[in-house]
Amino acid sequence: MPKLEEFIRDIVAYNPTANIELLREAYRFAQYQHAGQRRKSNDPYFVHCEETVRTLIDLHMDIETICAGIMHDVLEDTKCSPEDMEAKFGRSITNLVLGVSKINTKINELPFRGATQAPQHMQDENARRRALRQAEHYRNMMLAMAGDVRVILIKLADRLHNMRTLEYLKPARQQEIARETLAIFAPLGHRLGIAKIKSELEDLAFKFLEPEKYREIQRLVNERREEREEYTRNMAALISEVLASESIEAEVFGRPKHFYSIHQKMEQKGTAFEDIYDLIAFRVLVATEDECYPALGVIHGTWVPIPGRFRDFINLPKINGYQSLHTTVQIKKRRIEIQIRTREMHQRAEYGIAAHWRYKEGIPRAVTSDEQFQWIRQMVENLQEVQDPHQLVECIEADLFPDEVYVFTPQGDLLALGGEATPLDFAYAIHTDLGHRCVGARVNGTFVPLRHTLQTGDQVEILTDSNAKPGRDWLRIAKTSRARSKIRRWLNDQERAQNHEIGGRLLEHEMLKRRLNPRQHMKSEELQHTWERLGFDDLDGLLVSIGQGKTSVQHVLNLMFPREEEVKKEETREVEVVPQRHAISIGGINDAVLRIANCCKPLPGESVIGFITRGRGISVHHMNCARVGNEPERLIHVDWPVTETTYPTQITVYADDRKQLLGDIATAIGKSEVNILKGEGGSVDPFTACHRFTVEVTGIEQLRRVIGAISRVRGVQRVERRLPKGAKR
Ligand code: MN
Repeated sequence: MPKLEEFIRDIVAYNPTANIELLREAYRFAQYQHAGQRRKSNDPYFVHCEETVRTLIDLHMDIETICAGIMHDVLEDTKCSPEDMEAKFGRSITNLVLGVSKINTKINELPFRGATQAPQHMQDENARRRALRQAEHYRNMMLAMAGDVRVILIKLADRLHNMRTLEYLKPARQQEIARETLAIFAPLGHRLGIAKIKSELEDLAFKFLEPEKYREIQRLVNERREEREEYTRNMAALISEVLASESIEAEVFGRPKHFYSIHQKMEQKGTAFEDIYDLIAFRVLVATEDECYPALGVIHGTWVPIPGRFRDFINLPKINGYQSLHTTVQIKKRRIEIQIRTREMHQRAEYGIAAHWRYKEGIPRAVTSDEQFQWIRQMVENLQEVQDPHQLVECIEADLFPDEVYVFTPQGDLLALGGEATPLDFAYAIHTDLGHRCVGARVNGTFVPLRHTLQTGDQVEILTDSNAKPGRDWLRIAKTSRARSKIRRWLNDQERAQNHEIGGRLLEHEMLKRRLNPRQHMKSEELQHTWERLGFDDLDGLLVSIGQGKTSVQHVLNLMFPREEEVKKEETREVEVVPQRHAISIGGINDAVLRIANCCKPLPGESVIGFITRGRGISVHHMNCARVGNEPERLIHVDWPVTETTYPTQITVYADDRKQLLGDIATAIGKSEVNILKGEGGSVDPFTACHRFTVEVTGIEQLRRVIGAISRVRGVQRVERRLPKGAKR
């Protein structure tokens, strides 16, 4: 039977109303476009298109996806333009094909899970550029997926055939593609719940990445194939007999685990390949959910269940939607793994997201609005706020590898969270406000820090304070994309409010300098024309942009009053600085964007100045700090009163070495009511000791008092305030 007729027969079997004429046309079109092209295997290129479609039909995909699948390489590898395709096949199919070609970007090497945090990666400029390209690639992929998940399904089918024919490529390319498959596509398949494709991709990648280990497992599995198959048949018959005797009708079968998962089990548990019977999982398929638990009851009543091996994924589905009851029982001295589920759950486990389209022609475009696929939307939303490529890769990985933990609320409700979740993730999973006001947690009755990693079975109670608010460091503590995006949104809102305030003050100040009355001109038509001309939606948008340092106030004023002479630029800092009464206050509600500069580490009470960075808030420097640039218009007065808040400051003490020296210095510091965070000792020469302390002070006055007290200790030569390396004063 010709391939096309075979396809049609199989499609009609699951989708009798499919538009078969459209498929015939797409098939002929793709065949014509690829005519004469060959694969590396020397097969006609079109064979690859047919094989890709074979997989899509096995997944019972809708006709649009199948048409796009047969044409998935047409736009990239032939002269056909998107316009031509759209004229013939419509926008929807063309967009699918465009989506697939968008994510075909060639990449060299992929970062691996865990390796992405390594900062040394970033030191090398090449690595940095590669990271950027990879991040862009990931972003494209996720965006394409959010636009239409079917793009990824076509890509998975395409990758599956490429992996099946990987042997024809050069070894270096084989490694690259296999690595990318294992790092991205198999996890994507898993995340979309398509066990069938995920397993095959993993086995194929494993075969090329670790050929020796692969062959070893293959040999061991094949060695006792007959014995194993007979055992499997007998055991399945035994289980279904036992169930039938209790009037439960079930289909029972055993399937060996796939090679890569055997390999992972052996590596993780360090177990040897001893018992081939461990490699078979038995599946019990029943008609309805109501029969799952009685079936489990019969099995547990007949054989001894192994404690701790029962998992209820029916009441508590995995993040990818997987449902089943898992248990392990002892049958004739052997541990047997049994999974109980309905036929429908089984379909979903095998076909995952693809099961969603079965018999639902035309519906799938809105798939991302579906509750079940909310994570895709969430992921993309999250990604849009992440600029740093490493963060981006981390975010995607966190979403693609959701090792799950199950924890209890104080009310006893179970909650599933992504792996390595912390109490913050828990709080945000319950309610955004609970997250924002979170100050600590009790796990199983014990107080824990926010960065504590939760374990399955933990009971978690969140402690809140109505004055608490998220901090930037929370982005490092929270691990789930939900919590991280909530925190990031909160921080962005704060930053916007702060930039808005700064922008307003800078604009007012510039008006005052030009002898214009801000009261009158902040609401003037001239200003409205100006923000309109600059392309802002409203005045707020302009003010935020000024605050961010993206739009200059001089430019705004010059646009408002084009004929006026530009005010002479003055050179000295003092004159240009926004007047004191416009000072930004540290310790106020908005200090989320105020940072104490690391180069000069000023303290309250010193002469300080705020520097409006480009988009990263205001950094507070010592007035004389060399790092404050030559842009006087970016400087702003900062009001920094001494409060209870303390700041870590380093001091170095040089003294004649003697007994009791350290004790005396520590006493002097303590008497000044200053806390020592850290102390380390050393010596400059045999007679001179040199001790470094990090102390917490409320401001420069207190620091001076401490230094004075230390100076009076017998033998002390001098005390220095130590600044970070490279700082100038
Ligand atoms: Mn292809």
